Amino acid sequence: MYLTWLTDARLYEVLARIDDDLAETARRAGCLVCAGVLHSARFPRKPRGGPAELPTGYDRRHSFCCAADGCRKRRTPPSVRFLGRKVYLGAVVVLAAALRHGLTGARVARLRQLLGVDARTLERWRHWWHRAFAESPWWKAMRGRFAPPVPASTLPGSLLRRFAGNGSEPLVAFLRFVAPSPTSSDGAGLFEGRRRPAEDAH
Ligand SMILES: [Zn+2]
Repeated sequence: MYLTWLTDARLYEVLARIDDDLAETARRAGCLVCAGVLHSARFPRKPRGGPAELPTGYDRRHSFCCAADGCRKRRTPPSVRFLGRKVYLGAVVVLAAALRHGLTGARVARLRQLLGVDARTLERWRHWWHRAFAESPWWKAMRGRFAPPVPASTLPGSLLRRFAGNGSEPLVAFLRFVAPSPTSSDGAGLFEGRRRPAEDAH
């Protein structure tokens, strides 16, 4: 079921509109340092793992630069399309990692065929969810919202299943929920000073 969501073109349209809203909210709030006006300074992304025809705009991530002289602080709003610095689309990183739990050789082969994701990458994503995400202060603060508790050992699937809806709606709700988390977002510069190149690259 999860993999059919990834072939639904409407999913990518919805995610693009949510990102537009998140960007507009950030722009209107202005610079967090000096309250200056923000100018668009999007940067290029080459997302992997999506359908052949992604909606326009998927080659760019929303980002802003403060227009004030002497500040020029960059602000990158949260994104439901891109998860941190990972080169794959956020939806793919969630669903492939959700499927990874108990994956058979045949399903790994299918993921590789559909998404171009190999077993090593899947394993890295699984570790990212179980370590960087599960052990983040953000998740530790948020997990109390869920009852019964969300088992960390089966993230992200265990969290994904807590969101209800038709079709890919649970995935959209999941991505909206995790987008502002520091581990998922480049935005607040929280990676700075403790960057993990091995994880950032995938
Ligand atoms: Zn500023």
